[in-house]
Amino acid sequence: MSTWPADWEQRRRGVACPACAEGRPETIPDGRRFSQGPTADAYLCSPTAAAGYTLVFWRGRHVADLTELDGAEWSSFTAELRLVSRAIEAVYRPAKLNVMLLGNTLPHLHAHIVPRYLDDPNPSSPPLFMMDGGEALRGHEHAIAELRAAVEVLRAGE
Ligand SMILES: [Zn+2]
Repeated sequence: MSTWPADWEQRRRGVACPACAEGRPETIPDGRRFSQGPTADAYLCSPTAAAGYTLVFWRGRHVADLTELDGAEWSSFTAELRLVSRAIEAVYRPAKLNVMLLGNTLPHLHAHIVPRYLDDPNPSSPPLFMMDGGEALRGHEHAIAELRAAVEVLRAGE
């Protein structure tokens, strides 16, 4: 017996995919874009996991998993992940970055980047990620500006 939604295979193939439908918006629910690369957008999200929690959405054709990307797409997406991760490191100075490709709820390729800090209460566990109770994304204009500046510097150096 499958425990997945009845329409899972359709969703996985991109039928009525909300991420494809939204195009490349400046904001997503609880997130504001700070990087717009050739094939990916990065959004600083409400810090439900940690300060600097970021979603990176693949903005090419619909794929659910990395395995569906061709070589050029793979290179482009991972280059964006690297650049965005470096910008987060520059601004937030985490002890470690956790980068996760999940998509079990929204099967359109995207990465969750969760900075982990020296005062993390449980560093050997996965991040308490997408849990309720995080503060709203308010007062983060400064962080957005810093992240945008870091992305600009990194892109100029490539
Ligand atoms: Zn999609």
